Amino acid sequence: MDFDFDLFVIGGGSGGVRAARLAASDGFRVGLAEEYRMGGTCVIRGCVPKKLMVYAAGFASDFEDAAGFGWSVGETRFDWSRLMTAIHDEVTRLEGIYRRNLAAAGVRIYDMRATLEDPHRVRLDDGTVVSAKHILVAVGGRPFIPEFPGAELVITSNELFLLEQQPRRVLIVGGGYIACEFAGILHGLGSEVTQFYRGAQILRGFDDEVRGHVADEMIARGINLHVGTHVGAIEKTESALRVTCSNGSVNEFDAVLFATGRVPNTQGLGLEEAGVRLGRKGEVVVDEYSQTNLPSVYAVGDVTDRVALTPVAIREGAAFVETVFRGKPTRVDHLNIPTAVFTRPEIGTVGLSEEDAREQEPIEVYFSAFRPMKHILAQRPERMMMKMIVSRETRRVLGVHIVGEAAAEMIQMVGIAMKMGATKEDFDRTMALHPSAAEELVTMKEPVRTA
Ligand code: FAD
Ligand code: NDP
Repeated sequence: MDFDFDLFVIGGGSGGVRAARLAASDGFRVGLAEEYRMGGTCVIRGCVPKKLMVYAAGFASDFEDAAGFGWSVGETRFDWSRLMTAIHDEVTRLEGIYRRNLAAAGVRIYDMRATLEDPHRVRLDDGTVVSAKHILVAVGGRPFIPEFPGAELVITSNELFLLEQQPRRVLIVGGGYIACEFAGILHGLGSEVTQFYRGAQILRGFDDEVRGHVADEMIARGINLHVGTHVGAIEKTESALRVTCSNGSVNEFDAVLFATGRVPNTQGLGLEEAGVRLGRKGEVVVDEYSQTNLPSVYAVGDVTDRVALTPVAIREGAAFVETVFRGKPTRVDHLNIPTAVFTRPEIGTVGLSEEDAREQEPIEVYFSAFRPMKHILAQRPERMMMKMIVSRETRRVLGVHIVGEAAAEMIQMVGIAMKMGATKEDFDRTMALHPSAAEELVTMKEPVRTA
């Protein structure tokens, strides 16, 4: 059978763009449909604009700390619209690069929504139907908001990047990556931040000591964190949003940001009708080669609900091309993925938490909490923490958790050592780099406990 394309990709985000570009560079005929802006969540309304806001927020404490080093910083003022304009310009620049790279590789771009018609055909929003030997579903996810009275009044991270004015008083609901990151960002930029989390401690799934340390420091910085709390209802008044919370208290905010998770973007995509198996959350069920139950249809990235991170989506997109177009069946290794939460202070983590590791095997726990050198003169009481989980039997490092400045940068490197199977003794025989915070990773002598 003759197809219009060798590959048709639905979704121009991290995973879809990588796969389309690689396949087209090899000379295959590739089409790609994107319904919003090229680059997807990461570039347009995720990692990139978020990290730029993290940098912006960081200046608040830099100005404070400078005094301890002899600087007199004059009056400071933050201008939301200047930051947002700069971010939008940068995002637009990146979007242009993505688009140009795709075009240069020979990908035919359709700036419109696409749905699956059958195992080999895609319907475009203008009514055109195109056929492809292989179809890659890379439509990502979207924010989930639970139902409650007034839910239509809240915003998600999508809208936050489009706000024309900085909310003076903001309520953030959720205790995951996005909620905690935006609590730090908005607080750093000068908003009064309240955060509600339904459970007992934020950042479920992370190491318990990391969770406790970060929560304490977020509170110390001035975030009003309320655990065991949820929104009951929201009403709009003339000048604010009036929020009744689960304990009956009523407070007013200028904006309420819900960061209560994301769901796969499979609604109305025609997948089930075409016979593609979906999971309980609507995710596309795939095997280790990202293939669905229909042999011609593959899926990568957030839509598969494996690990919702950009580098993972990119690797899955690349592995799909290796498997399908280069005759090299390639699985993505989802083990020991380094990840960072850009809270203030920042978290960098790779491998098992203490809680998960002790379920698996006997372990030693190494721990260090200290005031980094820079904080002494700055008179900042905030402490940094480092923690290492080691297998008692193999001596391999099973998990490393860092909270503090540059934790993300450090954990990327630790991730390499762990992939190589580093043992505690490998860390120990590595010479310390002084003076640095990272040297603590190779100088933790005695375990604080075994389990
Ligand atoms: P996406 O990047 O979401 O791309 C999917 C694309 O498909 C979108 O452009 C969408 O418009 C398009 N689309 C959907 N349906 C259709 C259709 N029917 N037809 C045509 N087009 C369609 N990850 C990190 O690693 N580090 C971070 O710091 C980080 N920060 C984040 C911050 C925020 C606020 C958010 C929301 C996410 C963040 N992530 C981060 C996660 C990261 O953005 C995602 O894991 C990544 O973008 C997933 O890539 P993807 O290709 O699966 O989907
Ligand atoms: P997360 O899954 O990280 O967190 C969702 C939060 O919402 C949890 O605290 C969860 O609570 C809470 N929640 C879920 N449902 C409800 C509900 N009905 N009512 C109240 N609270 C609820 O999702 P995010 O949206 O923060 O981020 C999505 C994903 O995007 C992340 O998991 C991550 O993979 C990726 N991301 C990565 C970043 C990075 O790399 N730095 C930054 C931002 C996002 P509970 O824990 O009790 O279930």
